[in-house]
Amino acid sequence: MAELTVQKPAVTPPLVALSEDELLFRDNIRQFAEDRVRPLVKEMDEKGVFDHGLIREFFQLGLMGIEVPEQYGGGDGTFFEAILAVEEMSRVDASAGVIVDVQNTLVNNALLRWANEEQKKRYLPRMTTELVGAYALSEAGSGSDAFALQTKAELRGDEYILNGRKMWITNGKEAGLFILFANIDPAQGYRGITAFLIEKDFPGFSVGKKEDKLGIRASSTCELILEDCRVPRANVLGEAGKGYKIAIETLNEGRIGIGAQMLGVARGAWEYAAKYAQERKQFGKPIAEFQGIQFQIAQMATEIEAARMMVYNAARMKDAGMNFVKEAAMTKLFCSQVAERVASLAVEIYGGYGFTKDYPVEKYFRDSKIGKIYEGTSNMQLQTIAKLVLGGK
Ligand SMILES: Cc1cc2nc3c(=O)[nH]c(=O)nc-3n(C[C@H](O)[C@H](O)[C@H](O)COP(=O)(O)OP(=O)(O)OC[C@H]3O[C@@H](n4cnc5c(N)ncnc54)[C@H](O)[C@@H]3O)c2cc1C
Repeated sequence: MAELTVQKPAVTPPLVALSEDELLFRDNIRQFAEDRVRPLVKEMDEKGVFDHGLIREFFQLGLMGIEVPEQYGGGDGTFFEAILAVEEMSRVDASAGVIVDVQNTLVNNALLRWANEEQKKRYLPRMTTELVGAYALSEAGSGSDAFALQTKAELRGDEYILNGRKMWITNGKEAGLFILFANIDPAQGYRGITAFLIEKDFPGFSVGKKEDKLGIRASSTCELILEDCRVPRANVLGEAGKGYKIAIETLNEGRIGIGAQMLGVARGAWEYAAKYAQERKQFGKPIAEFQGIQFQIAQMATEIEAARMMVYNAARMKDAGMNFVKEAAMTKLFCSQVAERVASLAVEIYGGYGFTKDYPVEKYFRDSKIGKIYEGTSNMQLQTIAKLVLGGK
């Protein structure tokens, strides 16, 4: 009788396993962040200004156009790689992380998805080499209720005339291109919202006050002022009146990026805490030998592992073309909680030293707070998740 050969089913690689390409990509960025970013972190935080030379290096390293196809000068990479870059940068500095994040997961992503060919040719080669992008949705009176925005756009001939103010715009100081949302027909409510591509030297556009913040201090957060700002009709991104769709869908992807930023913050804080616990002696031995500290370090590591799996899963779902809206909201919600808890414990493990600016952990604690606020507060994520899970999704 012929012997039956039983074929073992193919084994699915673990979620957190990286391909050779991904590993190489991550290691390059990790090295760069250690060598070039880490030495500047403290000074940039104190001054509240991001080093311009570093941004140039981000472009040279290909960090500002990770997913952009080669034909426009980009890295032709995956969303997952963009997420790895945000995580690795944020492990060293959350401000560096958010610059890379906004460029890739918001601005380039929106251009790739919604820009027409002429707009892609005009902007993507610059986005990969010298142009920093910003994403301008929020206003003083409209944050969580983003579609209540008041900035108006009126069509006159071949131009739109924009009037209004934006608030809280990340990269405001450095950006040359703004994806900015304004309403072309307020009577239509959110159906009037339209996305515009605005260059910083368009007449009537200016950057206003820069916020003095608790955390991510080196990342600029600015007001934008539009006073009869003239924008060519050809600079409408996607369809007029469909800006709300662009805003929602771009932010869905962006949330995975913020999850990655918070994962990086948690890892960075944990690494300092674990090292310090093995060096700091009390009662004649390293504090890491006390079970109380060991359990804290273990709890932090476990939460980081869970956060990493959520980020990697959501990013891989996006690359696989699956619906990831629920997972993205959960990822941002959870990772921002983990970052805050881990960074807070790191401060405690450092004791009194942790509470001072002479040691690095208080900055991680300050930087962690933003994860619960931007790209939709935690309550907004819970609202999305509740709607989906109660709806059977
Ligand atoms: C550093 C920083 C960078 C930013 N970068 C950008 C950027 O690049 N581009 C951009 O467009 N915006 C940006 N923002 C704006 C950010 O997205 C908003 O601050 C955020 O969406 C919250 O809006 P808000 O500040 O108006 O708070 P509000 O919406 O006023 O919320 C205040 C509180 O009320 C809660 N709340 C509101 N509505 C509800 C509800 N229905 N149910 C339960 N709770 C509710 C919120 O959860 C929050 O706790 C940035 C903000 C900061 C601080």
